[in-house]
Formats: sequence, C-alpha cells, structure tokens
Amino acid sequence: MAFKLPELGFSYDALEPHIDAKTMEIHHTKHHAAYLKKFNAAIENTALENKTPSAIFAEISKHSDAVRNNGGGFFNHAMFWQMLSPHSQEKLEVSLADAITKYFGTLDKLKEEFSNAAATQFGSGWAWLVKKDNGELVVTSSPNQDNPLMDIAPIKGTPILCLDVWEHAYYLNYQNKRPEYINAFWKVVNWDKVSELFNKEKS
Ligand code: MN
Repeated sequence: MAFKLPELGFSYDALEPHIDAKTMEIHHTKHHAAYLKKFNAAIENTALENKTPSAIFAEISKHSDAVRNNGGGFFNHAMFWQMLSPHSQEKLEVSLADAITKYFGTLDKLKEEFSNAAATQFGSGWAWLVKKDNGELVVTSSPNQDNPLMDIAPIKGTPILCLDVWEHAYYLNYQNKRPEYINAFWKVVNWDKVSELFNKEKS
C-alpha cells in the first residue's frame, strides 16, 4: 500500500505574509511529492511496504539511504504541514504548558532554544521539540531528512514540534535570512496540534 501526499488543510496563501504562497506550493507539490514518490519506489515490493514510517525509522540503520532520506522527507513534511496554521493562537493546553515550564522555565525560553537550534543547524535539516520516553522535553536538530524517530538520532523520542530549515523552505521570500524565517514561523505555529502530539500515547 503506497503512501499518499497529505493535504495541507489550508490554502497556499493562507500563511502570508509569514510564509509565502509560492514557497508553500512548490514545497508541497514539488519537494514533498518528490520525497513521497521516491519513498514509495524504495519500499515497493519489500517487507517495508506495510510498515508504518515510525516502525521503519526505528530500524533505519538497517535500510538504504534512499529509504532514510525519502522516508524522512515524506514523514517530516507531513508533520510540518500540521505544525502550521493561519489561525495560530499561543494558547497551550495545560499539561503541555506545565511540561514547558518544568523543562524550559518559560515558553520564551523554549522558543529561544528552538530558534537557536534551527538557526545553527549547519546546511539543510530540521529543528525539533522532542518528548523523550521518560516524558522529558528536549530541543534538538537533525541534518538532511533525519528525525528523532530514527535509531541513528543522537536524541530520540516523539517529535511534537518541527521546523524545516532547508533553503527551499524559505529562500524565495527570505533569501539567506534564515533567522527572519524562524521568527515568522512562531506567528503560524499550530499549538493545538503540538498539544495533541504531546498528549498522544506513544504508538
Ligand atoms: Mn522541505
């Protein structure tokens, strides 16, 4: 059963001026679609075909670079679209708010640490907020299309917030100014979804 390209849930121009329509359209219909196509091709007629991305990532060190890069690319983008909302409200569900207070002190401190991870990830990659198996929240980043579900990740756990810092995610509107794109991201974060992922039982 092949994986499918998920819908965004909002129009390409819905996040303007923070993330522009052209970037969203190319990102979804070209970049994400290409990862999906190559991921499906890489797992077709193999034992991975009927596994979940999480199950594949848990043993990613056993699989090819094609599975790692394109499987990561497929999953990470599908998650990233869910992180975004044209109706962003900085209202955190109480258990998430408590955990952020416990592990970061304040939401601003979390944002600062996450923004720093996103800004300093060298080259292409992602910034993550991860819920570890012991419940601890940590910020990390990954190169390329790796993610914290992969067995090769230095910090493993359930990702509950992510930001794509590949140049294709921001170059049309922000050129080389990655920090400006990161600041804009905070204006469109779907905190309801972050809360939902935080409270979800590990599958
Ligand atoms: Mn991307």
